[in-house]
Amino acid sequence: MDNIFSLQGKTALVAGASRGIGLAIAEAMAAAGARTILAARSIDKLNTHAARFREQGWQAGALALDVASSESIRAAAESLDPVDILVNVAGANLRKPFEQYTRQEYDSLLQTNLHGLMELTQRVGSRMIAAGRGGKIIFIGSLMSILGLPYLSVYAITKGALAQLAKVLAAEWGKYGIQVNCIAPGFIITDLNRAMWQDPKMNEWIRGVQANPVPGKPEDIAPLAVFLAGAGSRYITGQVIAVDGGYSTTGVWPFQP
Ligand code: NAP
Repeated sequence: MDNIFSLQGKTALVAGASRGIGLAIAEAMAAAGARTILAARSIDKLNTHAARFREQGWQAGALALDVASSESIRAAAESLDPVDILVNVAGANLRKPFEQYTRQEYDSLLQTNLHGLMELTQRVGSRMIAAGRGGKIIFIGSLMSILGLPYLSVYAITKGALAQLAKVLAAEWGKYGIQVNCIAPGFIITDLNRAMWQDPKMNEWIRGVQANPVPGKPEDIAPLAVFLAGAGSRYITGQVIAVDGGYSTTGVWPFQP
């Protein structure tokens, strides 16, 4: 096997690449040699990032995409040649008691975090299958794909569904040489939650519950995405893999032997 971390000769579409985790993944994929297409709504930001990547000698382009619009998804998917790697990162969040969600908030979260990514994966995946070169599909789930935490009910509905979709597509598309996995990031500081992590109580709390006692950074998620996009992940499919400083598997207690 060649360099298992090389994406040379591959084309990657990162949906939700204008900031945060998606931008870190796009940067790592471009650095690993993939021709990387950064997609999201903020086309100016994407153009700036893509230009910065090209200055590094990497191959990158920008693509306008609103996953809340079927028309935008269709136009974006049809504007591209078949891609080898699809990373579904786009997402939004809302934290409130279950009984207070409005129907509009529910619809909006479902559309952005689930329905749009389903449509995009149908369109891009169909072309991946037709191209006959195999491929890699990576969903960005969440700890809410595998755990329950309060005030995240609707977000959890969407992230649980993405994890299940990854497993079913892994089964359906394995015969085409397509591996499908889901990364479940833990507590990663980005625009999505920066305000919440400014409360010192949150940092105190994480020291008490997590093996690695600090929140993560977007750059902590990108290496696994590159690995899952490359040749080294040929036999890894249908998995939900947490990158969470140990939150979902470890505990911390004051006992001293
Ligand atoms: P972020 O900084 O807010 O980034 C969200 C990304 O999604 C942006 O690039 C945004 O681009 C894009 N996006 C949002 N709505 C979109 C739409 N309608 N169409 C196209 N793109 C859209 O948040 P992040 O923390 O990096 O989150 C990225 C993903 O990781 C999300 O799915 C999130 O649920 C997941 N996640 C995050 C954490 C965490 O702790 N941060 C933990 C677990 C999972 P535009 O606004 O330019 O469209």
